[in-house]
Amino acid sequence: MSQIKRVRGFQDIYGENARKYRYVVDTARNIFEKYNFEEIILPFVEDVSLFVRSVGEETDIVQKEMYVFEDRGGRKVALRPEGTASAVRAYIEEKLYAKGGYQKLFYEGAMFRYERPQAGRYRQFHQIGAEIFGVDSPVADAELIKMVQDILDSLGIQTRLEINTLGDFESRKRYMEVLRQFLKGVEDSLCEDCRKRIERNPLRVLDCKVEGCRQATADAPVLMDFISEKSLERFERLKEYLTGLGVDFTVNPRLVRGLDYYTDTVFEFITDKIGAQGTVAAGGRYDTLVKQLGGPDTPALGFAAGIERLMLLVETMPEDQPLVSVIPVVSEFNIQALKAAQSLRKEGIKTELILKEGSLKSKMKVANKFGSRFVVFVSEKPELKDMESGEQELFENIQDLIEVVSGKLKGALG
Ligand code: ATP
Ligand code: MG
Repeated sequence: MSQIKRVRGFQDIYGENARKYRYVVDTARNIFEKYNFEEIILPFVEDVSLFVRSVGEETDIVQKEMYVFEDRGGRKVALRPEGTASAVRAYIEEKLYAKGGYQKLFYEGAMFRYERPQAGRYRQFHQIGAEIFGVDSPVADAELIKMVQDILDSLGIQTRLEINTLGDFESRKRYMEVLRQFLKGVEDSLCEDCRKRIERNPLRVLDCKVEGCRQATADAPVLMDFISEKSLERFERLKEYLTGLGVDFTVNPRLVRGLDYYTDTVFEFITDKIGAQGTVAAGGRYDTLVKQLGGPDTPALGFAAGIERLMLLVETMPEDQPLVSVIPVVSEFNIQALKAAQSLRKEGIKTELILKEGSLKSKMKVANKFGSRFVVFVSEKPELKDMESGEQELFENIQDLIEVVSGKLKGALG
């Protein structure tokens, strides 16, 4: 019979990688909680129009990357390609604004985009992200960026931070017209995708990775020159706050992000270590999106980071808890061994009861495979073996043994 394979672009995360995944998420979660963000668990499936109306009709995500299908009830739905749109939908639908003050939410989980799979790029990938609803002040932008920096620092990941301002919607519209005229003049030097983008999404041309496009747009008019006083002033404040916090950054006037909903602040944390997939975390403000999706006029901002890309960059993880294996010397001692394993776990010790029956030698082999730090032999009198020194010690009863091994493990972690 032919073997069933996983679907292209999807992957199994197991072993060392699964531990790394958990480490990245736990680290981020700790920091989210320290910054007083609350978790929101969002659905994987949403009405297609949510993404068309938020991410934008002409974006790569909506044009070619979204998993869209009709469910059995004839609803047109999409597997979520990103988290912000869902968070905004929930903010409006669950009337989170009615709680007063402002809301700080974080999420974690799978996203789906039909992209060409390569290192650091999958069709199911995972993100951590956070959103702040109801704050206008650039103090929020600075804190959000600092929080992302904290997450990267805790994971030992080095990146550089690029920021830019896109201004408000009006100035951006004016700029897009001027940019469109410019792009028409250099159309012949642009890649095929970018030629289509001139009408649909001219800003995206500035984000194109193709060298020809980069050269052709090197002298393009700069958005910064079209931005209102108010936006420029808020950008100045953001820069001041970041500097005050000791966060290093550079202003990249070409940074536009691929999604339609951004206004004013945008930022990316970038690494050169993983090739073209260099953006590990990205975000910005989206002050018009909540209203645009039918909610009250609410300024908002957020970020998302790709967990797989973070995993590629994590070099060291805290060591695993050492393992103690319990071996009944003969099957007459199975019950005592079952109980001994329970007592060890109650003490908070990671314990493997060797489940295979057979010779003592074969059980020892299994204990070795698991990388046991200590082995407990259960017989008339329990015996403890230190797998590093090879020392063995006999005890009167299991309680005494547990006390000793417990102390040794604490000492080792000390
Ligand atoms: P890129 O330019 O790399 O396609 P993007 O602008 O599409 O990124 P966002 O939509 O801003 O990315 O998503 C935020 C983060 O999610 C990215 O910086 C990246 O770390 C991660 N990400 C996006 N798409 C993928 C994917 N297909 N596979 C793995 N991670 C991804
Ligand atoms: Mg993309």
